[in-house]
Amino acid sequence: GILIRSLTKSFGGGPRVLDGIDLTVERGQLICLVGPSGSGKSTLLRCVNLLESPDSGMIWVSGMLMGRHFDGHRVRALRPAEYRRQQSRIGMIFQQFNLFPHLTVLENIIEAPLSVRGVPRAEAVARAEELVARVGLAGRERAYPRELSGGQQQRIAIARALAMDPDVLLCDEPTSALDPELVGEVLNVLRDLAASGMTMVVVTHEMSFAREVADRVVFMAEGRIVEEGAPEQMFSHPREERTRNFLRRVL
Ligand code: ATP
Ligand code: MG
Repeated sequence: GILIRSLTKSFGGGPRVLDGIDLTVERGQLICLVGPSGSGKSTLLRCVNLLESPDSGMIWVSGMLMGRHFDGHRVRALRPAEYRRQQSRIGMIFQQFNLFPHLTVLENIIEAPLSVRGVPRAEAVARAEELVARVGLAGRERAYPRELSGGQQQRIAIARALAMDPDVLLCDEPTSALDPELVGEVLNVLRDLAASGMTMVVVTHEMSFAREVADRVVFMAEGRIVEEGAPEQMFSHPREERTRNFLRRVL
């Protein structure tokens, strides 16, 4: 799972974009993270993924202290190889897919296993083919990203993340760049993954997905967690005024 304690972050001496975040995601849980624009959702995911370094606080993923090396006695900064190894434990899905445009579907998926993990090519290819089938795109291994719809590209991005066998999968508005008719196919892949026991944090505006699939919904505003709870409770009986106002606008 993921354990976040007293996390703070500001940019260039400005106000705190994350202001004391405490969050626990149990292994196998799916958390939906919601909140207004600028509330710090992306920054929070980027701290977990080591794309940003927090000012203070701690993050553990599967018992591993992120961004620091801890040998049981002392804590020190990561060496580059340690940084890459930690980052490879976290799968990240972005709004804009971020596939390599000059690589085929198959090449996109095997790239990290080959270069970061040193997996033998034949093994990486076999696993990639399995994953392409798992996201419903068997037969498209040789296509280039531009030959696929947005929904298909995002499903390949998910397959690519899974190829590294991540401990957790972080999704930052995975369907926000898609035409409405393509949203469902991506959410279905995420739903299947959740059912298979993947630990996930999904930032989304798809409230029906959150209601149906999330174990917990976490509402953030101005860098803090205002309220969290089971979807039924959050959507039907939010405790906080700010949560009610937000939900009134998005539901
Ligand atoms: P949205 O729903 O629009 O994606 P968000 O909740 O993901 O919003 P963040 O992107 O985390 O919000 O941004 C939180 C705040 O931090 C915003 O005020 C943003 O302008 C600021 N911010 C984020 N990244 C940087 C950066 N690299 N440099 C300076 N400010 C930043
Ligand atoms: Mg964001």
